[in-house]
Amino acid sequence: MSQGDKHSYITSALEKRVIENRLRSLKTVQTSDKSIIKVDGKEYINFSGNDYLGLSKHPDLISKSHSFTEQYGSGSTASRLISGTLSIHTQLEDKLAKFFGYEACLLFNSGFQANTGILSAIADRHSLIIGDKKIHNSLIQGAKLSGAEFKRYSHNDLEHLEDLLKKAQKQDYNRVWVVTETVFSMDGDISAIKKISGLCSKYSAHLYSDDAHAIGILGEKGRGLNPGVSGVDISIGTFGKAFGAFGAFVGCSREMKEYLINYCPAVIYTTSLPPSVIGSIDAALDLIPAMDSERQHVQDHSRALKKAMTDLGYSTSDSNSQIVPIVIGKEDETLELSAFLADHGIYAIAIRPPTVAKGASRIRITLTASHSDEQVQQLINAFKEWKNR
Ligand SMILES: *Cc1c(COP(=O)(O)O)cnc(C)c1O
Repeated sequence: MSQGDKHSYITSALEKRVIENRLRSLKTVQTSDKSIIKVDGKEYINFSGNDYLGLSKHPDLISKSHSFTEQYGSGSTASRLISGTLSIHTQLEDKLAKFFGYEACLLFNSGFQANTGILSAIADRHSLIIGDKKIHNSLIQGAKLSGAEFKRYSHNDLEHLEDLLKKAQKQDYNRVWVVTETVFSMDGDISAIKKISGLCSKYSAHLYSDDAHAIGILGEKGRGLNPGVSGVDISIGTFGKAFGAFGAFVGCSREMKEYLINYCPAVIYTTSLPPSVIGSIDAALDLIPAMDSERQHVQDHSRALKKAMTDLGYSTSDSNSQIVPIVIGKEDETLELSAFLADHGIYAIAIRPPTVAKGASRIRITLTASHSDEQVQQLINAFKEWKNR
């Protein structure tokens, strides 16, 4: 085999993407003001970010990040079990547990790492994982990595879920995990987590629920939608979205935490989060409970946008959160619309297959507390113009 052939799989895979008009590339952006993004020298209103509360630029997060770096150094220097558990890690975990109401919390370096790492540590080839059809890719990767049998139920379809749980009872799996999200990242709709929990207890299944898009922005004081639901064995929250920082955590029982410290390679074999990040998260946690008006602001904009889009004849799926998909359908039309919006000063990227199902291409709008009424109106006006062009 010649050298050229050795890498041909890469060349042909990339060519395939070009032919499909689906080649992706990285765009370097600048963010100065919270709701403004600069791309290739041009400014846009950013409707594609996850900084839901505008905290990534908050002075308290920045200063605590600085001061933790000065006090504790720029790196944590080791994994948690070696010498990388600083007082700031354990204090933050206790503070998180207290605020969210979990028996215990354990930090992870990212949501992706938490989901792949935890699922593969709590299920094995004798287990069954039943996941909602629309769960995040990190959960899918975790399920695959575990070696468990992996089944999917139709999105938010509890009858289908119950059917699969019933069938599982007749098999001899060592355990069954049900995996869902509270707020789904591409549709912004919300799962019936209490009912799912009820089904799990009825069929003795374990429940894994990812609250990434809810914490900080939904639920009482921004606690998300998992707290208060009994029977959630693993609750995931991430700090890269409404918390404006980076990292993730699991809320669980003390015993589960001890199990993960002993059996989860994603905890054991990785350097713990650096002091700068812990400082930002800690500062965010001090601010978030009091941000009801910001949360209300986002929900008001969400409602106004959904109504305006419905009036224009667009489907916003079952969005019930700050994530509002405007479903267009065809890929090329969605790309054209995204470019049209860009011409009108709006950064709203097209989401296409394989991220969403074929024929379900969409413009996915995320609303944040930093958006003004005028900016949301500008977005609505641009859609009106597109519709009447
Ligand atoms: C964003 C997201 C993740 C990944 O979290 P990161 O901290 O960005 O790695 C995991 N699950 C869901 C549902 C998410 O939306």
